[in-house]
Amino acid sequence: MYRRSAWLGCSATVALLVCAATAAPQRKASNVDGNLAYSHVERLVGFGPRPPGSPAIAKSQAYITEVLKRLNLQVEHQDFLANTPNGPVSMKNIVGKTRQSGKPVVILGSHYDTRVMTNAAFVGANDGGSSTGLLLELARVLSQRRNDFSFWFVFFDGEEAQREWSETDSLYGSRYFVEKLKTDGQTRAIKALVLMDLVGDRDLKLENDASSTPWLMELVRRSAVELGYSQHLAATQKGMVDDHVPFIRAGIAAVDLIDYDYGFNNSLWHTPNDTLDKISPHSLKIVGDIVVRAIENLGQQR
Ligand SMILES: [Zn+2]
Repeated sequence: MYRRSAWLGCSATVALLVCAATAAPQRKASNVDGNLAYSHVERLVGFGPRPPGSPAIAKSQAYITEVLKRLNLQVEHQDFLANTPNGPVSMKNIVGKTRQSGKPVVILGSHYDTRVMTNAAFVGANDGGSSTGLLLELARVLSQRRNDFSFWFVFFDGEEAQREWSETDSLYGSRYFVEKLKTDGQTRAIKALVLMDLVGDRDLKLENDASSTPWLMELVRRSAVELGYSQHLAATQKGMVDDHVPFIRAGIAAVDLIDYDYGFNNSLWHTPNDTLDKISPHSLKIVGDIVVRAIENLGQQR
């Protein structure tokens, strides 16, 4: 993930929403279990650094596939060769699909690769690990109840740059995924993408992302307010460049749930200190609750 250089101003509607939140009654949270999400993060981190093509990412792929299959989801692997500044690299997106047909599709996504770091061991507990663990837990919760949507749980490979972040050296998995959606003529079947990234920080503050589709961002924020989580919403808008961007460019509504400010003054992001002890099951639970509520609210506006 990358932050656009310009900070955008605080919007008046957001300020109102946050103020209104203080008085909002707390409503029932979801069945998302923060400890189960955390146990997935623990497993992934235990595999070690997981950059594309590494032995540890192969273990992650096997683990994610096994969990999705155990949930009786239809599992697809998208294998592709990414053209990177380091030469061609084998990558794999993993998709778990619910078996309801004829319903609009909501995609829930996370990248599961970790950043290449040659001089240190980068295990990406928050960056790559947290959202992947939560996505596996959301797959459990959402596949075991009646829904207004079909779900695709998508685990993107190659979100991170191989060398230096650029248009062409980043977002390999999501760019490939969206190109395939286009060639398969499936873009119109997708109601929305809900992306998660960096969601495990103890000090959770979800960005008000200016790159996300505005109505969907508002829906997510309203959902958080309904649950009494307004203190976890940042007011100031920032522009995030993440796996949601290829979807938005393809005309698909997309939102990024991300806490970019990781550690004091973002001191933990992309450092070897992004370790398991910084991850909070409670934060994973909060983000999971918000996603489930947002999906319920999305169903009501159909
Ligand atoms: Zn990253």
